[in-house]
Amino acid sequence: MCGITAYIGAKDATPIILDSLRKLEYRGYDSAGIAVINDDEIFVQKSEGELDRLCESLPKSVSGNIGIGHTRWATHGSPSMKNAHPHVSGDIAVVHNGIIENFESLKEQLIEDGYEFISDTDTEVLAHLINQNYKGDIEAAVHDSLECVDGSYAIAVICKSDPDRLITARKDSPLVIGVGEGENFIASDIPAIVNYSRDVIYMDDGEIASIGRDYIEVKTFDGEIVDKSVHTVDWDVNAAEKAGYDHFMLKEIFEQPEAVRNA
Ligand code: GLU
Repeated sequence: MCGITAYIGAKDATPIILDSLRKLEYRGYDSAGIAVINDDEIFVQKSEGELDRLCESLPKSVSGNIGIGHTRWATHGSPSMKNAHPHVSGDIAVVHNGIIENFESLKEQLIEDGYEFISDTDTEVLAHLINQNYKGDIEAAVHDSLECVDGSYAIAVICKSDPDRLITARKDSPLVIGVGEGENFIASDIPAIVNYSRDVIYMDDGEIASIGRDYIEVKTFDGEIVDKSVHTVDWDVNAAEKAGYDHFMLKEIFEQPEAVRNA
């Protein structure tokens, strides 16, 4: 399990992404990272360990109005700086929650095609695949790449040469979009965005979205536009996070039978 988040709007993306990651730490905390488009460059910072280490390592000067963030719980590759997300290939940066089951065969092919891998993760194939499929339309590149992939994913993607939109997609991993005014948000879970917007769109499996400051367009993988409902979160997020228990530890203990059944 990992947590992903993203922001596009007029504000500085970095503090919003870090705040959202803080709310997603329960989903993973072996490493964390952020990518922001800053003066036509993708600035990437990653850190092993808890989110505080990432926050401390960030230079004060990083600003940008679009970015993605990740807090990791490793499935492929050790918890380390090189395996932390975002993964970058050329102009493209990706964060991912899930498992790419066929990553080994994709990786072999990409290496044959000349791509160099720096991590041991399954996720890095996504970054290179999207780069390989990018012909000027980042949504098409993400779509075509996901067609080659087996497994589960919630992803958020930014592209330096298309800096006014975020692309997100899901299959078997949770994903919500927070709807703002002149700004929009992506996260694995509602508590990460509710400080900024209580209006949310729940992405369903097999959907891909292109998100700008003033629009959200969701499509099926077959290219049909989906008319998504916007739901208002009217529950108390702090209470809901702990599901009525006084402490997260108690919640985890009492949820164990259900977690085992689900597994
Ligand atoms: N498989 C990815 C990794 O190991 C994402 C992990 C996850 O979502 O749990 O980096």
